[in-house]
Amino acid sequence: MNGLLSRLSGGQPAASAPARVDSSAFDARRSAEMLAGLESADLGWFWECDAKGCLTYLSQSAMSAIGLTSDDLIGRELTEILATGDSDDYDSTSRPLKFRIASRSPISRLNVQVLADKSREVWWEISATPKLDGNGEFAGFYGIARDNTNSLAQSRDSERAAQYDSLTGLANRHRMTRKLGQTLDAFKQSKRSCAIMLLDLDRFKKVNDTLGHPAGDELLKQVAVRIKQLFGDQGEIGRLGGDEFQIMLPDIDDRGELGDLSKRLVQMLSQPYSVGGSRAIIGCSIGIAVAPYDGIEASELVKAADLALYAAKDAGRGTYRFYSSELSRSADWRQRIEDDLRDALSQGQLLVQYQPIVDAKTHMIASLEALLRWEHPERGRVSPAEFVPVAEELGIINEIGEWVLEEVCTQLSNCPPEVRAAINVSPIQFASGKFYAAVDRILTKTGVDPARVELEITESVFVGDLERTLNLFKKLKKRGVRLSLDDFGTGYSSLSYLRDAPFDKIKIDQSFVRGCSVEDNNNSALVCAIVSMANALKMETVAEGIETKDELAMVKGHGATHLQGYLFSGPISIEELITRFENKEFEFKPRGPEKYRAERRTEFRKIGVIHGDSRYNVFLRNLSKTGARIEGMLDVPVGTELVLDLGDGQLAVATVRRSEGFSQGVEFETKLISDGDKGLCTRHRVSPYQIEAAGRPLGALTNSAVTAYTSGGQSMPKAFVEVDISAQGRA
Ligand code: C2E
Ligand code: MG
Ligand code: MG
Repeated sequence: MNGLLSRLSGGQPAASAPARVDSSAFDARRSAEMLAGLESADLGWFWECDAKGCLTYLSQSAMSAIGLTSDDLIGRELTEILATGDSDDYDSTSRPLKFRIASRSPISRLNVQVLADKSREVWWEISATPKLDGNGEFAGFYGIARDNTNSLAQSRDSERAAQYDSLTGLANRHRMTRKLGQTLDAFKQSKRSCAIMLLDLDRFKKVNDTLGHPAGDELLKQVAVRIKQLFGDQGEIGRLGGDEFQIMLPDIDDRGELGDLSKRLVQMLSQPYSVGGSRAIIGCSIGIAVAPYDGIEASELVKAADLALYAAKDAGRGTYRFYSSELSRSADWRQRIEDDLRDALSQGQLLVQYQPIVDAKTHMIASLEALLRWEHPERGRVSPAEFVPVAEELGIINEIGEWVLEEVCTQLSNCPPEVRAAINVSPIQFASGKFYAAVDRILTKTGVDPARVELEITESVFVGDLERTLNLFKKLKKRGVRLSLDDFGTGYSSLSYLRDAPFDKIKIDQSFVRGCSVEDNNNSALVCAIVSMANALKMETVAEGIETKDELAMVKGHGATHLQGYLFSGPISIEELITRFENKEFEFKPRGPEKYRAERRTEFRKIGVIHGDSRYNVFLRNLSKTGARIEGMLDVPVGTELVLDLGDGQLAVATVRRSEGFSQGVEFETKLISDGDKGLCTRHRVSPYQIEAAGRPLGALTNSAVTAYTSGGQSMPKAFVEVDISAQGRA
C-alpha cells in the first residue's frame, strides 16, 4: 500500500468495522485513495508534523526532489528544514515559520525556503491545517506543499522590473517615490532628518545627439556606477528618468557634509567618460533639500529640491544649491512677473537709465549704455536681468526692444553730439526677422545720426543661422549704426566669427574684471589676451563692471580703451545727465574702494537678532563666513553674545567685536558655509520639531521696541534700544 494510504487506513482497525457497508468508512477510504493518487501523480506533496513541530511524514517524491531520505528528515524540527525568507515589507504573512507553528493557526500558501537542500535555492509553497487528537488537544499539522522556485523567481523578476531601472539597475522613480514616502512617514514619528539630492546631467543631450543613443545609454550606466561608488550603501540611489537622478540620504542634516558630498559628486561626474571609443565630457547640477527643515511630506521635499536644482542650473550649472524659502519666493515672483509684464509697457512702467562709459585715458564720457528698468507698482524697480528673459518667453521682447530704441534715439537729441548711446538687443529680437526694419524706421523717425547709435549684441546670436546673422550685420553697418559685442567671453566664444563680424567694439564681461588682482586668479591674463586680440582686429574695448581701484589699474594696464562700472558711475537718469552736460561736467572721477574683497558680500536685508528674551529687527549690511555687520541696535557693548536669526531656522551665535552707534561688527561662533552659489548659509538649522517642542516659534519672542517679557510674565525693559534705519535705504 502507498505511504499516505497506509497511514490514513492504518488508524482504522478493520475488526471494529460493522458487518454492513459503512458509508462513512467507504468515503474515508475513497478520499484516501484519491489523495494517494494525487500524491503518486506528483501534483502536490503531503506533510505532517507533531505537536512539537517535528516532521512525522513527507511524501516520498518530495524527499526525492530535494535528494534526501526519510532518515535525513523525519523527526527533525520543521524550522530546521524550512524557513520563511527575508522580506522588505515585513507583514504578517512573512512572519517566521516558528511563530506560525507556535500560534497553531492554519497556514495558507506560505513561501518557505528549503534549508535542507544545501545544493541550490529551492522554494516551496506550503499550506496546513492544525489537527486535534481524540481529546481535542493540538496534535500538530498536516498539510500540502509544492515546489514554486520557478514561479517565485519569475514574480521576483517582474517585481524587480517594476521597481528598478533596467538600464542602470538603480531604483526607478516608482520605487524612489515609495521609499521616500515610507521613510519620511516613519521619520516624522521619530523626528529624524532625511536629505535628498536631485541631480541633472549637464550637456547630456549633446552626447546623445552627437554620439547616438546607445552611447548615451552607456554614459548613463557609467554615471550610475560613479554615483554608487561615492555613496556606497549610504542611502538609496535612483534614476527618475532621462538624465535625472535622485539620492535619498537618511539621517543627514549637516549642510557642510552635504555640500562636500555634492562637490565631490560634481567633480566625479565631470571627469571624462569613454563611450563607444569616444571621449565624452558632461557635468552635473544638484539641488538639495532636507526634511524636516525644507519640507515634511515627500512632495514638499521633492518640490524644494527641484527648485534648488533649477537655481543651481540657473547659476551656471556644474554646481549644487541648497533649498531656501527665498527660492520659493522667487518662483512665485517669476510667476508674478509673467502676469504683470504684458501691461508694463502700456501702463508706462518702463523707463531707461543711462550708465556712462568713459575714455580710459581722460575719464571723459564717451558713450552711454541704455539700461532698461521696470518700475513695478509693488516691487519697485526690477532689473532687466529678471524680466527680459520672461519677455523673450512671452514673445513681447520685440515690442519692448523697439520702445527702448525709440526712447533712446529721442533722448540722444538732448546730449552733446559727440556722445553716443549703446542699446542692448536681445538675441531673440535680433533673430526675429523684423529687427532691421524697426531700426531703419526709428532712425528715420527720430532723425538721429546713426553713427551715434551702438547696438550691443551678445555672442549667443552666433548660435543660429550664421549666414543670416552676418548679412544682418552688414545691412546694419551699411545703415551707419555701430555694433558692439557684449559680455565677451561668457558665451559661445569662437574666435573665427570675430574675424568675419564687423564689430566696432568688444565689451569684456565683468566676470573677467572682478577680483582680477586677487591671487590665483587668471582674469588679468584673460583681459590682456582679449585686449590684444581686439587691438589686432582694430576694435575698441570696454572693460565692464569696474568697482575698485585695483580693477581699474589692471584693465588700464592692459590697454582697454574704454571703462564702465560703479567706480565711475552707476546707471543714472536722463535728467541727471542733462544737468551734468549743461554744467559741462564731462569727466567722471573714479570713486570707490581700493581693493576687491571676495569674502565680504554686501547685503541689505532685514534679519532678527535675539538677545536674552528679546528679539530685535536689524539690517544685515554685509556677511562673510566668519562674521557680519548689522545695523539697528544702539550701543551694544563689545563682547555681547547675540543670536542672529538669518531666516528658515538658521540661527548663528555671534559675539560683538566692534560697536559704533547703531552699527556692530559680529563674529560667528561657527563659520557659515557656501550655499553652492553666491550665498552663505549655516551648517545646521533649528528644526520645526525643536521649535514645536520649545512651545513657541522664534517670531513669538517680543518684537516690542521697549519691553521684553521674562518667563514669569512680567515685562522688563529690552536691554538695547532698537533704531529704525530702514528710512536710510541702501548706502
Ligand atoms: P549688460 O548689458 O552687461 O549691462 C551691464 C549690467 O551691469 C547692468 O545691469 C549694469 O547696471 C551692471 N553694472 C554696471 N556697472 C557695474 C558694476 O560696476 N558692478 C556691477 N556689479 N554691475 C554693474 P542691469 O542694468 O541690471 O542689466 C542687466 C542686463 O540686462 C544687461 O547686461 C543687459 O544684458 C540686459 N538689458 C539691460 N537693458 C536692456 C534692454 O533694453 N534690452 C535688452 N534686451 N536687454 C537689456
Ligand atoms: Mg550691455
Ligand atoms: Mg555686459
